[in-house]
Amino acid sequence: MYQHRDSQGQPLPLPVGKIVCVGRNYADHIAELNNATPDQPVLFMKPATSAVAVQQPFSVPVGHGPCHNELELALLIAKPLCNARPEEAMAAVWGIGLGLDLTLRSVQQQLKEKQLPWERAKAFDGACPLSFFVPIAQCDWQQGLGFSLQVNGSVRQQGDSRLMLFDMPHLLSDISQQFTLLPGDVVMTGTPKGVGPLQDGDALRLTLEGHFHIDTHVTTQEGRR
Ligand code: ZN
Repeated sequence: MYQHRDSQGQPLPLPVGKIVCVGRNYADHIAELNNATPDQPVLFMKPATSAVAVQQPFSVPVGHGPCHNELELALLIAKPLCNARPEEAMAAVWGIGLGLDLTLRSVQQQLKEKQLPWERAKAFDGACPLSFFVPIAQCDWQQGLGFSLQVNGSVRQQGDSRLMLFDMPHLLSDISQQFTLLPGDVVMTGTPKGVGPLQDGDALRLTLEGHFHIDTHVTTQEGRR
């Protein structure tokens, strides 16, 4: 069972709640998928059953077309947040880590064309591998956080929180106007460009610059899905 953990690997006394995801929050990723730039954050959710620990090898579904990496900064919520102002929102964050918003891209494309919700493409079991979390007091997030994903030794994604269209305080504020965030919820803040298919056996390195890197790999479980 997945549990939220701190950077020493110790379990945190927080439940595993909903995962609120933000789409189209970096201009370079909007361009690579030919999407329109939103005038408010694009929000969707993954259930708690989608969370797995990224540092253990994780599986991607088979038989549903390509499963893409989307490496994102992940915020672990520690206090209830409802109708919060941007300037007070970050006080509810326990820490910052990295997550993969795994996406069945062809499935998502078909759903988009039919104007249907995205859960079949993004909410499956294991769809959100999460790292451990660095306490917010140790993250100089106002100066910008750099992060990257290497796949088999080459850099596939490189992000910087300063390039977000909606920054973290404004994202949390906006989300908290739509639905209450509770302790143990996670907010995924959007992916920079560089999404692409993950294959069985791929070696991944997730880096949160100045804080950690995690080496892991992808497995497929034939017949699981
Ligand atoms: Zn995403």
